[in-house]
Parts: sequence; structure tokens; C-alpha cells
Amino acid sequence: MSSVETDNPILKAAYGKSIFEAAAENPIPDNAWEFHIRKNLNDAAYNSLKYVPVCCCTPVCAKCNNPKYMWTRK
Ligand SMILES: [Zn+2]
Repeated sequence: MSSVETDNPILKAAYGKSIFEAAAENPIPDNAWEFHIRKNLNDAAYNSLKYVPVCCCTPVCAKCNNPKYMWTRK
């Protein structure tokens, strides 16, 4: 994986978008059952974490159209 999480503009230019930035524009799909069930339950995962699209492609897309989704810290 060639992606890094950084605020350094020189590194950002060198490495391109992060796996999260590449997929960020994708909405959470209706068939993301785990997310929707946890949201309806208003459970601990839904309240403590965020569910985000992530580009799992190699190389990382400029704009990902086929993201996976994962729970991550808010
Ligand atoms: Zn991708």
C-alpha cells in the first residue's frame, strides 16, 4: 500500500490521495446492513465510530467507484 496519512503538502503531492480521500465521495449504500442495523439500534459502534468508504484498489484510485466500507475512529 503506497498511501500515507499526512497533512504535509509535499508528501501529499508525492503520495497522492489517501485510501480514505479517494473514496470519500461515496455514500453509504442501502445494502450496508450492519451499518443500518447499528444505526437503528443506536448502538455503541454507531455512536462511537464512523462508517467510512475506503479504496482497496492497487494503485489507489484518484476517485474510487468501488469502495469497501469500514468502521474507524471519529
Ligand atoms: Zn479504488
